[in-house]
Parts: sequence; structure tokens; C-alpha cells
Amino acid sequence: MKISCPYCGNDTDFYEVAEGVTITTFYVQNEDGSFSAVSDDSEIQGEVRLFCGECHKELKEYHNHFLDMLF
Ligand SMILES: [Zn+2]
Repeated sequence: MKISCPYCGNDTDFYEVAEGVTITTFYVQNEDGSFSAVSDDSEIQGEVRLFCGECHKELKEYHNHFLDMLF
């Protein structure tokens, strides 16, 4: 089953917005003094919401479906 935006009919483009995100990035300092990122870690404290990529309306009722279909 595919979802489509009830407001504009879009069924291809969607985005998520996460609130209260802490991103920790780990670096190593190289011989020449430059830094390289080795890994990063993000932690979401706030709410994550799904939006239509066309009309930018929030699609609250489809978020669980979106998470189930995310691979
Ligand atoms: Zn839409």
C-alpha cells in the first residue's frame, strides 16, 4: 500500500523533521594538525515529524506507516 498526501496528492517526496537533536562527531587529529571525522552519533530528544515534500503539510497520521515501511 502506498500513501499519498491528502492535501495535494503527492506520493513520492516526503521529509522528516527532528527536534532537539544532539549530534556528536568524533575526530582524530592528523600529523599535520588537520582533523578527520571518524564517526558521528546523533541523539534525538524531541519529536520527529513527517511532512509532505510538495505542500509541506504535516502528515501525522502517516508517520507510523512511514516508519514501518522504512528500509
Ligand atoms: Zn502535500
